[in-house]
Amino acid sequence: MKVLVCNAGSTSLKFKLYGMPECTVLATGKVERVGSTDDAIFGYCNTSTGFKVDALKQNIPDYAVGINKFLFELTKGEGAVLSDIKEIERVGYKSVLSKDHYGIHEIDEGVMQGMRDFFPLAPVHNIAYLKAIETVKAVLPDAKHVGVFETAFHRDIPLERKIYGVPYEWYEKYGIQRLGYHGASHGYIADCLNAEKKEYKAISCHLGGSASICGILNGKSVDTSFGMSLETGLIHANRVGDMDPTMIHFLKQIGMSEEDILRGCQKEGGLLGISGVSNDLRYVIEAADNGNQRAKLAVNVFVTGIVHYIGAFFMDLGGLTDLVFTAGIGEHSDRVRAMVCERLGAIGVRLDEEANRANAPIISSRDSEVAVRVIPTDEELGIARRTYELV
Ligand code: AMP
Repeated sequence: MKVLVCNAGSTSLKFKLYGMPECTVLATGKVERVGSTDDAIFGYCNTSTGFKVDALKQNIPDYAVGINKFLFELTKGEGAVLSDIKEIERVGYKSVLSKDHYGIHEIDEGVMQGMRDFFPLAPVHNIAYLKAIETVKAVLPDAKHVGVFETAFHRDIPLERKIYGVPYEWYEKYGIQRLGYHGASHGYIADCLNAEKKEYKAISCHLGGSASICGILNGKSVDTSFGMSLETGLIHANRVGDMDPTMIHFLKQIGMSEEDILRGCQKEGGLLGISGVSNDLRYVIEAADNGNQRAKLAVNVFVTGIVHYIGAFFMDLGGLTDLVFTAGIGEHSDRVRAMVCERLGAIGVRLDEEANRANAPIISSRDSEVAVRVIPTDEELGIARRTYELV
């Protein structure tokens, strides 16, 4: 079966075409700067022949033009992999959030309405996805369109870890609860551990521009650092992470507009907000090494948050067999991994410094009680699998 995976941003689209169940990547595509009539970027690759298109300065005024360009390459271009787009039986979307649809769902009007209902919780993501889904559905009307929601992997978290201390009716009537995100990534990490056919208690640290920690017990998410929205948990590149909601009320009272407060929390917070240097951890670390105290503080806040959640989830899981680092920072920053692991001696974590410097798959030493691992995430493959599996 041919499964197309679509990852939509507010001005970008990424595609991967898989042959399932073999999980073979047949072709990849990307469109950047959707909306530009003279400066958009289009890329395509037939992964078996290596045929590539890398085109700059493109006229791609909307998603429909970008999608049609990709479909043209798939079927008629020099690097075609299909004779007819009807061979695409399913399309899976790395979708974020839909009210009352927290799992993996065939996308119908109800699912799309749920995405509209939750615009305030995921404004950037949901608007982009709805547009992309509507366009791809119109172009591929016979395919089954599947929303693999980022909340899906966390659906079975027990209620006592999901519910907030708010009036119970808020949960019942409005769905107020911890939902969790990065499900495609943490789910992929669980797939990797499941393949080892063992019982395990794992903590997956997805540390990228957006960061979250997930406790996994034998393949199932049992806890997440994310809350109802993506603004919670660890500090992120430029988002606030956990904060006291009373602060918003206070800032409003002293005259700050809601718009300014939201901008501070959603765009000018996190690593950027504390350091004042950058939302890219590489620059923040560089500044810290050059003596910038706020940059040093930002790195320490980030690391302390990670340690805090690992400690809590260690207790929730009742132990730990595997500690996994993934995503941009998790896969590449030996510094952050070393700073985190240095503080986990009490739970039996010992690092092999050389393996850590080399970003090796196993970075714990022989005497470590916990296997510390670096696993590059593959969210698209996770989505392709879930899309293929949906009955
Ligand atoms: P992602 O969201 O998974 O694509 O991760 C992107 C983030 O990874 C960027 O914000 C970078 O700051 C961070 N990153 C990538 N490589 C490194 C590195 N070697 N050291 C620190 N941060 C890194």
